[in-house]
Amino acid sequence: MRRDPSRLVQRSTIPPSYPQFTGFEPCAQIGPAIYILPEGRKYGTDELAVLREGCWGCPLRADCLEWSLHRERWGFWGGKTAKERERMRVERGIRVSEPHYEILGLRESDDDDAA
Ligand code: SF4
Repeated sequence: MRRDPSRLVQRSTIPPSYPQFTGFEPCAQIGPAIYILPEGRKYGTDELAVLREGCWGCPLRADCLEWSLHRERWGFWGGKTAKERERMRVERGIRVSEPHYEILGLRESDDDDAA
């Protein structure tokens, strides 16, 4: 069977693992509601300052940002808004890959078996 080359290229870029959250990160203390806003609502300057300050002091920031660049279109992750992460994706040529295999407990090859 012949494989689609574009699919092989996509598979060769393995997204990072889900960050090892402890529940003590600043976002867990602040509460999740502000991290994912209802559609159409934008952050105010004060809200963004609180979010950025929390993330900049977080030991998981690099992992969180990298994971979200590959896996999460919405919300505030790793010190960046959804719009800022989208700009980073364009610069780095990253495509968001879904579903979240590791959260679902599936290996990437499970997807191939179903195809
Ligand atoms: S970097 Fe990620 S884990 Fe850390 S506070 Fe920000 S959103 Fe939470």
